Formats: sequence, C-alpha cells, structure tokens
Amino acid sequence: MNAGQEPLVLIVEDEPDQVTMLTYNLDRAGLRTITADNGEEALLLASEQVPHLVLLDLMLPLLPGLEVCRQLRRSPKTRDIPIIMLTAKGEETDRVRGLDHGADDYIVKPYSLNEVIARIRAVLRRARPGLAEETLRFDEIVMDLAGHRVRRNNRDIHLGPTEFRLLRYFMQHPGRVFSREQLLDVVWGTDVYVEPRTVDVHIRRLRKALNEQDEADLIRTVRSAGYALDFKAPAG
Ligand code: CA
Repeated sequence: MNAGQEPLVLIVEDEPDQVTMLTYNLDRAGLRTITADNGEEALLLASEQVPHLVLLDLMLPLLPGLEVCRQLRRSPKTRDIPIIMLTAKGEETDRVRGLDHGADDYIVKPYSLNEVIARIRAVLRRARPGLAEETLRFDEIVMDLAGHRVRRNNRDIHLGPTEFRLLRYFMQHPGRVFSREQLLDVVWGTDVYVEPRTVDVHIRRLRKALNEQDEADLIRTVRSAGYALDFKAPAG
C-alpha cells in the first residue's frame, strides 16, 4: 500500500441498510471501504487485502464476530489490523470478551455515524499516525476531509464527488505525476471500466472550480504522462 493513500476499512456487517449507510458515510469522510456480510468472507478479505481497520459486527452468520476477531489475531498477516466491534445494547459480556480477544475498541448500536468516524480516526491515529489526517493543505488550497469542504484563498470551492476524490488524491501526493490509468484506478476503482479520456473531462472541471482568473493553475499537465498537483504550473 502506498503511504498517504486513503485508509482502507473492512466493514463486516450482515444488515444491508447498515452496510449502505456505513459505506456512504465512510466514503464521504475520505475512507475507502470493502464489505463482507459474513464471518468467513471477512477473514478471506482481511487476509487478501489487509485493510487498515476492521469494523466488525458481533452478530454474524456463518462465523460469529468474536471468532472472526480471534482468528484475525491469530494469523500473522492480519494480527496487527485494528478492530472496532459493533455491538448491540445488552451485549456487555460479549463486549468485554471482544476486548479480551484483541478488539481495539467497541461501539454500541444504535450509533451515530459521526461517532463511528471519530472512533475510526482515533484508532487509526494510534495505529498509524499520519494515515488519518483530516485536513490536507497545498499552497492556498485547504481540504477538510471530515467536513467535505474545499477552500482556496478562503473562498469556498464546490466540487462534484469525482473532482473531490481527484483533488484529495493529488493533495495526498503533491508533485507526483499520475497517468490517466493510475487516476482511474484510485479515483474510480479497478472494478469499473471508464475511458481514460474521462479523466481529462474531470481534470478540466477541477481546474475550472479551483482557478479564478488571476490565480495560478496548480494542476500540471505532463504531456503523454498525465497530471500532477504542482507549484507554478505552466498553462496546461
Ligand atoms: Ca448483525
């Protein structure tokens, strides 16, 4: 995994509504997500993709959450992944057992999404300082990931979701040149097919949103290579 990439969270939850809500809100908060709806799939995904954190529901089909927790801790590959358990009210004993089995924290249902995100950031901050940054800065641009806000020279910049993800990725890797294919993989994901030209369209929108007449264009076009976020970019 590249340093500075958005943290990857494995959501293990069997209730589809909860999964949808968690995925949507974690994504908005600048976290990437993968999901499993049972314990066995959770173990498989955890060892294949080694996420930065596991959000683990206790009551799961096939394999209970506590057993998932125990097995994650047993395998050298997944041993160090922080785990936050999601427990229902009244599962006090399970909660204590979960912490005994190596969970880092627990959240009681029903929870607020803000609480979940705050806890995830706190656990990530402890486990991997630098990974859970909430504010990104580059030159005059400030990105508030938690609040989903972007400002340049104290002016609010309104971005669509794709432009937001593009800018976030650039700001996590200032000065580095990315090809259209690389940007497609990280911003759109590897499981969708999008024309490389689509990247150009969104870069154009991003530039338009970021730059006022007298401001420098901070997105550099590198001929036949791709794009970078850079100081004093020549007109692209
Ligand atoms: Ca459940």
